Amino acid sequence: MPARRLAGMAGGPPPAVTARLRRYGALAGAGVLAVVCSGVGLPPPSDAGPSSDDPRWRPLAAEVASPVNGAFRGVAQRVQAPDIARSLQAYAQELQRAEARRGAAAKDWKLRRAPLRAPAPPEKKPKLTTEPGHIVGEGLPPVIVQVPTDEKVIFLTVDDGEEKDPALLRMLRSLDIPMSGFLSDEVARADYGYFREAQREGFAMHNHAINHRQMNTLDEAAQRAEICGQQDNMERELGHRPKLFRPPYGAYDEATLRAAADCGIEVVPLWASEAFPDRIEYGRADKKFHPGDIVLTHFRGEAEWDAAMTDMVRRLVDAATDQGFAIARLEDYL
Ligand SMILES: [Zn+2]
Repeated sequence: MPARRLAGMAGGPPPAVTARLRRYGALAGAGVLAVVCSGVGLPPPSDAGPSSDDPRWRPLAAEVASPVNGAFRGVAQRVQAPDIARSLQAYAQELQRAEARRGAAAKDWKLRRAPLRAPAPPEKKPKLTTEPGHIVGEGLPPVIVQVPTDEKVIFLTVDDGEEKDPALLRMLRSLDIPMSGFLSDEVARADYGYFREAQREGFAMHNHAINHRQMNTLDEAAQRAEICGQQDNMERELGHRPKLFRPPYGAYDEATLRAAADCGIEVVPLWASEAFPDRIEYGRADKKFHPGDIVLTHFRGEAEWDAAMTDMVRRLVDAATDQGFAIARLEDYL
């Protein structure tokens, strides 16, 4: 269910690659070396569909020819310059092919233009501080609506888990756009397999409680049961206990944060804007994205939106691109 205002203002509950493309343009020598050394993720080498078990956002080093890798690490001292040059050229060609694939995918999905590619992840994750107006306390996880960064990136987060649309994954995969899910067991459990598939594709899945209750109406024990219980479900169904928890409706109190910390939660990401198929609801007065903004949307479809999840993605990506923003991977920053 949507919260229609800036969660960051809260207190109470409501009911790379322009830069990268430019770098891709400099396909010779130092330009390419800079990209190689940055550890940038490279799109998958083909549109090979969902059968691969490899995570999508592999470090670039995993993709480039080993002579180059070895040389950069100082391991293969005997590597010859022509080998490196050949590897760099092959790498540059792969980048060009990857961009061409994304351009074609953007057309297929009827985007106005190809989405901007996110810059390389930060080498050091930023130190998080709780958004002003939110609850802070010793040992409590920070509550955030944006990630501290100067990069023009936003983060796509998708809640609940009712709609399980394979086209969403196809679209994001072909455009190389990351997404983070926050799953509520009551709707996700009908088919956790869909979310396992998403996770295999590199889309991280996090905790959104079991029964989508408004946390601050529950006592602490009930909150703990909701949050820890969903940690158990996630571990059983997806093989890991998430570090991120988003309270349903963005509603929480101090007991929520205590319970979350007890359940192994390290960050409570709320959101700065919400995406729908026909609009973006900006939480900020200037009605724009800001660097590091977390964007909320939902696993929803025709029944509730009278439109598809892919329509929502199109709306969001076009708005981001218009404003010069790329969609980056939240887990690279948190
Ligand atoms: Zn929700």
